[in-house]
Order: sequence, then structure tokens, then C-alpha cells
Amino acid sequence: MKAMRLLAPGTPLVPAAVTLPEPGSQEVLIRVEACGVCRTDLHVLDAELPDIRYPLTPGHEIVGVVRACGSEVERFRIGDRVGVPWLAFTCGVCEYCRRGEENLCPQARFTGYTREGGYAEQVLADARYCFPLPQGAAAAELAPLLCAGLIGYRAYRKAGEAANLGLYGFGAAAHLIAQVARHDGRRVFAFTREGDAAGQRFARQLGAVWAGASSARPPEPLDAAILFAPVGALIPAALAVVRPGGRVVCAGIHMSDVPSFPYRLLWGERAVSSVANLTRADGEAFLALAARLGLKATVQRFALDEANAALGQLRNGELTGAAVLEMA
Ligand SMILES: [Zn+2]
Ligand SMILES: [Zn+2]
Repeated sequence: MKAMRLLAPGTPLVPAAVTLPEPGSQEVLIRVEACGVCRTDLHVLDAELPDIRYPLTPGHEIVGVVRACGSEVERFRIGDRVGVPWLAFTCGVCEYCRRGEENLCPQARFTGYTREGGYAEQVLADARYCFPLPQGAAAAELAPLLCAGLIGYRAYRKAGEAANLGLYGFGAAAHLIAQVARHDGRRVFAFTREGDAAGQRFARQLGAVWAGASSARPPEPLDAAILFAPVGALIPAALAVVRPGGRVVCAGIHMSDVPSFPYRLLWGERAVSSVANLTRADGEAFLALAARLGLKATVQRFALDEANAALGQLRNGELTGAAVLEMA
């Protein structure tokens, strides 16, 4: 089968023929229909995450159809449509796993990073970490739910009951979370790169009450802000527009260094936290919510061998919504 593979840090992906082994006892073999392109994939490409082993197939927003099941797989049958998220494996016995915080498991493995991912025609996945998906929807429109939506939703819940919610970086995750926030009666304030009129227009179309540059001061103080853009300087910028007692949640896996800032920005019981990975419970809760709300992903479709173009457009902020690779 064909895959787009990373051979060395900072290099373009190259098409390669890969032979997959038979599925292990807990694994399913999946024919990939679509795989979303996530900002984390850029951090993998740029080797901003540790311990990458090459060659590697990136991609962790996988929608596909089960083609074969390992001997102990009971959840799925051949022909089922499944989603494969970022969280690929946890140990199940460490203190985090036992506490319901499997997202923090030190033995965790991750799709498209420490396990082969979905920029490919086929993938193997541990069935215990896959989610059942509906047959009816377009695969490309489901794919962004599996990370942008899911980890965005974890960040959204961490932001608390914020009536005025700021979203920094209006890409794949923010465009989904804005719809959830609006449904919950929150007021969304969208922050984009300087001069990104198209991005600000897109945010207003999705119900943002205000959209402006990330350096701008919104017309009202925010109760919380979620940072989807991987820019450390946004932490003091967001703290400066969040009210006392408010929260700033960093949703990405990597950020540029945070510049020093005066303590008065944090003072007043403001809090900064990060969000790491996902639990399977997060996935089940979010996918059920997405179905209930009829959450709609805006996607730009690319063929598998156009993966480098999709990644380049994501890097340059040229996308509206989420980029998705669709397999032939
Ligand atoms: Zn564990
Ligand atoms: Zn992701």
C-alpha cells in the first residue's frame, strides 16, 4: 500500500510502498478513507517533538473502514467505519491510567508520531482506542473531529463556564469549538494573524461576536481564552485581556518559547494551563455531542500525494477550516 512518509527531520514527505504485517490480536487493519492534517503534524515534521523514529507515516485524524480484525477484537467487525485518534495506546496500570487520566500515561503511544499514522492507504490500529463512526457522513468531514474537534473540546471544557470566550488562531479546532460555544450560549471572540481579513470573516460567519488581530484588545474583557496558535507570546497577550479569575488554556502540543512578562498579568487569580492529548472518554463525549449538534467541519480536500501542499498551506495560514487528505 502507498503512504506518504517522513524520512528525516524538516524534509518533505515522500511517497513509498509499505507492506503492513498481519494485525496483532488487539488490532484492526483499516482501509483509510480520509485523514485530517493537524498542526501537530507540522511539529512532527519539524522534529519539535522528541523521540521520533524514521521513517514515519504521520496523520492522526483517520477515518476508515475495517478490513481485518485481530483474534481478540470484539468491538468491531469487517466493514465497520472507525475513527483513529491521536491516543493510540496506554498502559492501563499506572497511577494516571487508574485515575482516569490516561492522557498523561507515561507509556502512552500516539498515532502518526510513535505509531504509524494515516497519511496512507491502510493503517493498523489498536481497536481499544478506535471510535465507531457513522456511515452516512462524508469521511473528509468527520476526520477533523478526531483531533481538532476532540482536543479542542478538552480545552473548551478546561476553560470553564466562560460567557466571553477568546479563541486565538481560528483554524481547524477553533472553527469547530466556536460552533459548540455558540450552541452553549457563549460569546466567541476570535483572534487571528494580523491582517487576516478572510480568517476574521470566517470567524464571524461561524458566530463570533468579534474578530480581530491577536494583538488587539477586544471590546469586553474575556472570561477565558484558548490558544490554538503555537505562539508563546500569546500567553501574556491573552492574560492581558482576560478578567481577574479568568483562565488561559494552551491547546497545542508545542509552542514557541514564552517571553517573560510582568507578574501583574497573572495576578488577580488568573490561571494558565495546558491540555495534553485526550482520553477515550473525551472522544466518546465529543463525538456524541458532535452528532447531536450536527457539527459541521469546513474542509479543504487534498489527494494523498498532495500531503506536502496541504501541510504547506497549513503552515502559511492559507486554509479556511481544516485540510483533509482523501484517499482514492
Ligand atoms: Zn498508564
Ligand atoms: Zn492533532
